[in-house]
Order: sequence, then structure tokens, then C-alpha cells
Amino acid sequence: MKNVLIIFAAVSIFLMNTYAQTPKDLAQIWEKQHVSKLQPSQVRHKDLQKYLEQLKGFGLKVEEVGRSYANREIYQIEWGKGTTKVFMWSQMHGDEPTATSALIDMFALLQENRDKDWVKKLENTLTIRAVPMLNPDGAELYQRRNLQFIDINRDARALETPEGRLLKKLRDEWSPNIGFNLHNQNSLTTVGNTNKQATISLLAVSGNAEGKSNEGHLRNKRLCTLIVDALNQFIKGHIGRYDDTYNPRAFGDMISAWGTPVILIETGAFHGKDEMFLIKLNFIAYLSALQAIVDGSEKKANPKIYDQLPFNETGNLFNVIFRKANIINFNETTEPFTADVAINAERRRSGENAPTFVQEIGDLSVFSGLNEYDASDFYLVQKKGLLRTGASGEFFFYKKTRKIDWKVKDLEKAFPPDAVFSNGKWTKGEKLLSKKS
Ligand SMILES: [Zn+2]
Repeated sequence: MKNVLIIFAAVSIFLMNTYAQTPKDLAQIWEKQHVSKLQPSQVRHKDLQKYLEQLKGFGLKVEEVGRSYANREIYQIEWGKGTTKVFMWSQMHGDEPTATSALIDMFALLQENRDKDWVKKLENTLTIRAVPMLNPDGAELYQRRNLQFIDINRDARALETPEGRLLKKLRDEWSPNIGFNLHNQNSLTTVGNTNKQATISLLAVSGNAEGKSNEGHLRNKRLCTLIVDALNQFIKGHIGRYDDTYNPRAFGDMISAWGTPVILIETGAFHGKDEMFLIKLNFIAYLSALQAIVDGSEKKANPKIYDQLPFNETGNLFNVIFRKANIINFNETTEPFTADVAINAERRRSGENAPTFVQEIGDLSVFSGLNEYDASDFYLVQKKGLLRTGASGEFFFYKKTRKIDWKVKDLEKAFPPDAVFSNGKWTKGEKLLSKKS
């Protein structure tokens, strides 16, 4: 009996190694072999074209399938020879780049590992088509909308954008069995009413106003559960559920309604990790789901784990909070008052200066900042002398022990501040205010 068990265990381990890659295996494969070299937000259309040339060099099928409003080429990659049709598209919103790089890596690694049994199984069961960077004009400008300034994801019904028309055409001509709609969400989105960033949020789209389920929707819920299981090993507590309100103008909803049940994957951020980490998470998510389709293990997944994910929330988390600052609005009065001040940064490509703006002033004790500073021993002065919401996040800090004539003509010159915080960075006196998180 003992021997039988040992053999059984050995065979199980062998089969696991052969057929299913664990999330950790997938992470390792990505770390060793990924071809994406740039931070996703740095990838322009010409960089995508270089990646695609590389994929062609590996023997992958890549073709131009349409043009953007500004006549930029839009491509589709195809891999596999199976009967289950998987359709994936990324960067419908130009400033939502993570999945474009993750798709490149997924195809590169599938193609490069075709001799492995687990990849052979995927290849024989699935045909995967993907459109990376559906909105190349928006990507070039790093803006959400296309060059008509239409949000493509509100154009599923009107179809006034060439990009939207192309997406519908590609779906309608092929009728895929499952769709993956790949986006980025605000980095300050939280998992429910917590201060945890929603690094990944998921939605199994029902595709009807009543939220009625069908077989494909239920399968997608189970796949979402498996994605949660896989990603919990890397970002436990940082996975949210995306708002499931039906929107008849949105592609996720309409593609589901047209017969291709869609999983929406929204990538947020993880404080302290860069964009490459987010590519890896996407890579693990896609391949965990695809493997589960292929080996049938999705049928055993419990959809309740997905159902019980807390919904995304916004407004709980800020980029920076200065706690208990003594605020001087010298343009109005020089009487200080005490308040917490929260600022948020705008979305920019990595490495670019992101402008920051005052988001909230007052008692922010129920909220969190990705970075927090104790400003209780300091006067805080907005550069222009009037702290207000919407003002730029440029602050002078003066030690409370100093005697300052706030009405002097050129304050900064007459009384050099002890610390200066400007657009998300300390330009003077870094570490003077103690950091709380
Ligand atoms: Zn989006």
C-alpha cells in the first residue's frame, strides 16, 4: 500500500509538472524569459512594432487587421490550433498599457516553449487571437480617448470610431468562446473600504441589464476564482471586484451580449513595485485561466470566491497625506489652522513628472496615503499663498518655532523654507518631516 501511495504521489507530481504550471512556475518562467523590456507606459506604437517583429521572428502569426483614426496600424497576433477560441484585446484606453506588454510576453513564451507538454496542450486545444494596443493614437498621446476624443469603450453601440468598428468586426467574424477585455484602473482604487490598493480587479461580465447568468458567464466566474487563487500568492488582499453595472455602450458588456462572454481584468498598482511586476501578474492571470480551460479544472472552481471579492472603491486612498499641518493662507489671513492635506498625482508615463493637486483638506483621519508625513511641527504654505482643493501640490514647510512675517513680499526669498515639496517630491529638506508609512 505504501509503495502504491509513493508511486501515486510521484506520478501526480510528474503530471503536475508536465501539464499544469503553478502560479509560481509561471512567475519563474516570466522572470527568466520575458521579452518586454520597457516599462509598459513607455511603449509607443513603434515599440509595439519592434516587439511584434520579434514575435514574427519566433514564428508567430502577426497581421495588420486595421488602422486607427490617425492611420496607425492595428495588429492581431494568433497562436494555437485548437477549437476553443480565445479573444483578448488591450489598451482600448491609450493610457492603460500593462496588458499590451503582458500579451507580448504571453505569446513569446508560449511560442518559445512549444516543446513543453503543458504548452502543447494549450496549443492543441486553443486558438488565441489578441489585439495589443487597440488604441495606438491614444497610446501615443498617453490619453484615454482616441484621436476623435471619443472613449472607445462607450462606442460599442454607435461605432463611430474605427477602433471600435474593428473590434466588433474581429469578434463578429470569428465568434470566440471567451473574451478578455484588458484595462488599467486608477492606482488609488482600493479593495472595498480598506486602504489596500486594488492591484487587480476582475469582472465576469454578464452582458445583460438584469445580470442574468448563462453558462459562459458562470464559467468566467469560476475562471475569475482561479485567477484570484493564483494571484493571492503574490498580492493577497489586493484583488477587487469591478463594478458590474450593465452599460450598453461598453464593449465588455456588448461583446458578452453578442455571444462572447467576457472577463474584464483591470490592473491597478502595488505601492513599491514597478510596472514590470504588473506585467508578471497579468501573465500569471492569463495563463492560469487558459490552463484551467484546457485541463478542465475550471469546472471544479468555486465561483463564490469570486462573488465574495469586495467591490472596488475610490476615495479612501491618496498619494500623499500631510497630517495635522498648521496651514497659513497668507493671501487671506495669517491665522493658522490645523488640517490634514491630501494630494493626488495625475497619471503619467513612468519617469515623467506627474503633476499633483490638492484633493482634500480637513480631518482625513479615516483615509490613508500611500505616503504620509507628520506635519504637526510645521507651517504648511501653498506656494501661491492659498491652500485650496485643485491647487497644485507645491508646498513650503516652516518649522513652527520660526518667526515669519507672512505678509512679506517675496516669502520664499525673505524666509527660505525649511522644506519644499513639489509635484510629489521633496526638493528641499527631505526627511525633515517624519514619514508615517
Ligand atoms: Zn480602461
